[in-house]
Amino acid sequence: MSLESRLEWVEGWGMAVGAPGYVFRPRDATGVAEALELARSEGIPVALRGAGCSYGDAALGAESVVLDLSGLDRVLRWDPQSGVVDVEPGVNLQALWRMAIAHGWWPPVVTGTMEPTIGGALAMNVHGKNNWSRGTFGEHCIEFDLTLPEGGARTITPDRDRDVFYAVVGSFGQLGIITRARLQLKKVRSGLLEVRAVAAPDLETMLRLADEAKDRWEYVVGWIDAFAGGKNLGRGLLHFARHLEEGEDKEPGAHLSTAAQDLPSTLFGVVPKSLMWRGLKPLTNRLGMRGINFAKYLAGSTFGNDTTYRQSLAAFSFLLDYVPDWKKVYLPGGLIQHQSFVPTDRAEEVFRNQLEVCHEHGMPSFLAVLKRHRPDPFLMSHAVDGFSMALDFPVMRNRRADLWSMVRELASPVVDSGGRFYPAKDAALPAELYRETFCEGQLEQFARFKAELDPGHILRTGLADRLLYGN
Ligand SMILES: Cc1cc2nc3c(=O)[nH]c(=O)nc-3n(C[C@H](O)[C@H](O)[C@H](O)COP(=O)(O)OP(=O)(O)OC[C@H]3O[C@@H](n4cnc5c(N)ncnc54)[C@H](O)[C@@H]3O)c2cc1C
Repeated sequence: MSLESRLEWVEGWGMAVGAPGYVFRPRDATGVAEALELARSEGIPVALRGAGCSYGDAALGAESVVLDLSGLDRVLRWDPQSGVVDVEPGVNLQALWRMAIAHGWWPPVVTGTMEPTIGGALAMNVHGKNNWSRGTFGEHCIEFDLTLPEGGARTITPDRDRDVFYAVVGSFGQLGIITRARLQLKKVRSGLLEVRAVAAPDLETMLRLADEAKDRWEYVVGWIDAFAGGKNLGRGLLHFARHLEEGEDKEPGAHLSTAAQDLPSTLFGVVPKSLMWRGLKPLTNRLGMRGINFAKYLAGSTFGNDTTYRQSLAAFSFLLDYVPDWKKVYLPGGLIQHQSFVPTDRAEEVFRNQLEVCHEHGMPSFLAVLKRHRPDPFLMSHAVDGFSMALDFPVMRNRRADLWSMVRELASPVVDSGGRFYPAKDAALPAELYRETFCEGQLEQFARFKAELDPGHILRTGLADRLLYGN
């Protein structure tokens, strides 16, 4: 197959940025080696890609070989006694929990969707709603195989190859290709969580309640009505959750089945959920989203406040998978997300400023989510001891430039506060702001690993070029 015949338009998950790339979809190591060989001989860079769930340009590159690793999707070894699993990088979170749950195991860290692959989860070092209590995905990886773009492979463990391990995880596919990962899953006694819902009338209360809950509940997540202003600025709903202990669930076998975890395919048992995004489309404008955010807060603070209930692990974890294809409501322009991580003592000031800046620009976020984080030992880590606020924005073609400059405005106070940004969610950050968030010597250390593991600079993406390599 010629290189030209592989040319496709490759988009970020948010559909707002994309580039033409030569797409290779290998199913095994030989296919990976062949794609790398061809890229080297043609002098073309290689952008690694998993399920393509990164919102922006992290898994694509203009006129690059796009090496889609989602077809390497075999579980190589699974030990239901210890919960240790060896997988190829294209296995996704969904396949992982489906395989493990009946044996009483669950991935210790999951994202808001079950689509990401293990390769992508390690490359971004993803976090869940339990970042404070369980850390990041990479903290549950026992070892991985790293194929180097210029040939050869190494098995990397956190003990034997500490520096390389903590540099590769979270380096968004710039230091090698993860071709196998060994993970330790988490023992669970039930397929249910106990969930507590609490309403917060303003930002100060949101942050305080989330902080107080972090040591008592494994999962802490907040939804913010980003349209509310004045004394209601930052109001929202918080959900805390914990796993049930042995004996708390009277029917653990039933709840630990995949059937009990499956998200319903219809709404109210009637409307196919695959059609729902079409129903939401007419409401996806400023007025409609203001109404939806208001109604959600009103319902949650009136009927749902201070309630405790049980919910399946999948339903609580993968809220964003409830409405299939929901991102299509944002077509034709797509959406971008901006997620800032801010130290605890500056979070209220920075998030207040961000919500106000959005109002001033007339571009409030349609969906805003708050999480509590802790620092981790990875070189390119995005986490701090503090909070993150993730803001979704529709991309209107006539306001695209305004939106990009607003993101710059949102990002400046984050840098001043000692905060961080998350490449998985970014499409619009300027390099200087991103680079300023690193401590002295950190980016130089990354450059040394790049020179050691990928001296020919074969691995590149739109994001890496934009934020790191300066072109
Ligand atoms: C609806 C939604 C909700 C989300 N929720 C969360 C969340 O709660 N927490 C969170 O942390 N993230 C979240 N994300 C972001 C997502 O988890 C990350 O972007 C993740 O990296 C996506 O995995 P992927 O397989 O799609 O990888 P891709 O997006 O395809 O790639 C991600 C990066 O990994 C690199 N890469 C891919 N495979 C490999 C490999 N085998 N070896 C080396 N590098 C590789 C790519 O070059 C790229 O830089 C969410 C995304 C969506 C769409």
